[in-house]
Amino acid sequence: MIIKSPQNNYDITIVGGGMVGASFAVTVSETLKDSSLKILVVEAAVPLSIDQSGSGFDSRSTALSFGSKQILSESSIWLEIGEKAEPIREIIVSDKGRFGTTRISSKEQNLEALGFVVENKDLVLTLNNRLSASHLIDYLTQAKITSVTPRASGVSFEISSDESSWSVSSALLVLADGGRSSVCENLGIVRSHQDYNQHAIVTNVAFEKAHAGKAFERFTDTGPLAVLPLRKFKDENRCSVVWSVNSYESDHILGLNQEAMQKTLQDSFGHRLGKIVKVGKLDCFPLRLSVAREQVRPGIALLGNVAHTLHPVAGQGMNLALRDMEALVRSIGEGLQEGSNCGEMRVLQRYLEKQIDDHYQIITLTDKLVSLFSSNAPTKVMARKFGLLSLELFPSLKKTFAMKAMGLG
Ligand SMILES: Cc1cc2nc3c(=O)[nH]c(=O)nc-3n(C[C@H](O)[C@H](O)[C@H](O)COP(=O)(O)OP(=O)(O)OC[C@H]3O[C@@H](n4cnc5c(N)ncnc54)[C@H](O)[C@@H]3O)c2cc1C
Repeated sequence: MIIKSPQNNYDITIVGGGMVGASFAVTVSETLKDSSLKILVVEAAVPLSIDQSGSGFDSRSTALSFGSKQILSESSIWLEIGEKAEPIREIIVSDKGRFGTTRISSKEQNLEALGFVVENKDLVLTLNNRLSASHLIDYLTQAKITSVTPRASGVSFEISSDESSWSVSSALLVLADGGRSSVCENLGIVRSHQDYNQHAIVTNVAFEKAHAGKAFERFTDTGPLAVLPLRKFKDENRCSVVWSVNSYESDHILGLNQEAMQKTLQDSFGHRLGKIVKVGKLDCFPLRLSVAREQVRPGIALLGNVAHTLHPVAGQGMNLALRDMEALVRSIGEGLQEGSNCGEMRVLQRYLEKQIDDHYQIITLTDKLVSLFSSNAPTKVMARKFGLLSLELFPSLKKTFAMKAMGLG
């Protein structure tokens, strides 16, 4: 429930009520509801309201794997968001102008869908509603955690809003305050960065033909281009586009007028869904890999972009964060049963042991894909061709790849 001022003590405090922090708060409160945990979420921004969330053509989206759907179905979140999610029935991977295409379909994997595309505003609104309605969560908005001090057991920290400031303590502080976390910096948790010198150009487009649940990953001369199926907007066959290009190209693309942009996209994507009839507002995100060197400390755990910010080429950032979130909830539950408190190092260590391989695999896979698919060097082109062909020729390899992409591997 929304509160005006926090209590003095909590079991779990979450810094940041974005997609990751809010998902964790809802999941931990519902999964461990019998433990009577006192949970606080502190969010710097004003919560999104239903009037602001109106369904515009340009709304941004996230592809969730089938595994993420299963995680969100364990709480009440999927119940509300599921009906608005667009299923991905087929993924088509290709290399522009070169031989070698692979198709992965939900039918051949015996699944209702390979994944789902949700509009961020729908997910954020669902999560806000849950945080505001829950009697198990104190939800303090338009307030920031400004400093944190480790204690013998847990942490104490300062919260400030325009009107007040408070000193609060908590057995566990979950940092979910995004890729520019000032709290992380304040704690001296170092994050290593690797700049890709690329930008993601993000937009929604309308095609002549309906997407029929198809998602496309196309490797173009300028970089990987993902086209994801979205819910129709009015009568328009809407898809979301994420095009990763180098910094020079992004300046050029952002400077194009509507007609030139339509033509550039069409040339790169081809005519699989017919003519592009509309290109929406363009957004641009600088891309880098950023990983916190400490994922946990006594009384502290990192989740989401603050823990690891990934290149969107494989659409894994949110999916990895949801698996982390589930593992952390599970470890806290196991710890409570053994008489530990939420922030004890053995609880957090157990969480990290469960997830460390997943972190390593996803970070490495994403980084390798960026390197492989962002270059036209002959060796990389050959490797791509061979990779796509191998996936087509060896069903077991394709299944392994598909399982990983679906968050089931
Ligand atoms: C172009 C692009 C496409 C992507 N596509 C996909 C995809 O298809 N699938 C996928 O899985 N992932 C995708 N991702 C990754 C995904 O967007 C991120 O993993 C996700 O947004 C991370 O959310 P977060 O909650 O960690 O951070 P944020 O969304 O940044 O939330 C942080 C929150 O913390 C609050 N905050 C910050 N500081 C404080 C403070 N001191 N006190 C209180 N509150 C604070 C902020 O106001 C904010 O609400 C994509 C990323 C990009 C850039």
